[in-house]
Amino acid sequence: MKILLNNKSLFKSLRPFKDIGFVPTMGGIHKGHLSLINRSNHNNKKTIVSIFINPKQFNNKKDLKTYPSNLKKDLSILKKTKKVDFVYVPTFKDVFDNKKKSKINIKKNDKILCAKFRKGHFEGVLDVMDRLTKLINPKKIYMGKKDYQQFYLVKNFLENRYKIKVIGCKTIRNKNKVALSSRNYLLKKDELRIASEVSKKIIHLKKKLKVKKNIKNFLFLNKLKIQNLLKIKIEYLELRNINDLKISNSLSNSKLFLAYYIGKVRLIDNY
Ligand code: AMP
Repeated sequence: MKILLNNKSLFKSLRPFKDIGFVPTMGGIHKGHLSLINRSNHNNKKTIVSIFINPKQFNNKKDLKTYPSNLKKDLSILKKTKKVDFVYVPTFKDVFDNKKKSKINIKKNDKILCAKFRKGHFEGVLDVMDRLTKLINPKKIYMGKKDYQQFYLVKNFLENRYKIKVIGCKTIRNKNKVALSSRNYLLKKDELRIASEVSKKIIHLKKKLKVKKNIKNFLFLNKLKIQNLLKIKIEYLELRNINDLKISNSLSNSKLFLAYYIGKVRLIDNY
């Protein structure tokens, strides 16, 4: 596993290879990330993982400051997998010091879910993904469906611009149904227990949707109930079609999308 700390070594190391699978991360490596790496390793000659906390996608400065980061530990976990050929750990300059800037706008119809609550977040995500794609020139990019809206927007954006495939990978959960996330490192034990209760409640709720006529109303009432019961703040709880992310009134091709706060930690998931 070669660690690439600047663009010069990136270009030099990747030059001989055409068949590259890319797993972008912000570090805080966990088994969710490792599942993407496994998939890439299986389907590509070489796998590159990036570790870069992109300041441009943080709409909240405190969130950026407290974002979990432990490069030494991350590198040690990645090395142990024996499935990563390169780890790219660029500086801000490596990624953003490029004169050509294209203004990225999210369409009005796409300003839903996290795009509605985190102003500028996805513009920052698309910007960094565009730049990383240009720098790395991978054939395939592996992303988690836990961050479904991110996967959906990045896939549409990059596949329109480059000869590339963005592949969505299933959400990895712990035994208590909590989706793995770097942000879970910020939760105390009892908060992690609340996250597990939330997941179990939403999974149960989804089963009940099968027989409901007015889904929107049912979700609104249950959002209030769950908020009160578990003392959390739910930002959204919506059933949406996975192909266009429009509000859905039936379970077919649809998922329940959830964002909520436990204390100051914001978590997202979909079921
Ligand atoms: P992050 O480091 O949080 O930016 O995540 C890097 C990639 O890992 C993104 O494509 C995420 O969607 C994906 N990912 C994060 N958590 C999980 C999970 N629990 N299961 C599968 N993929 C995940």
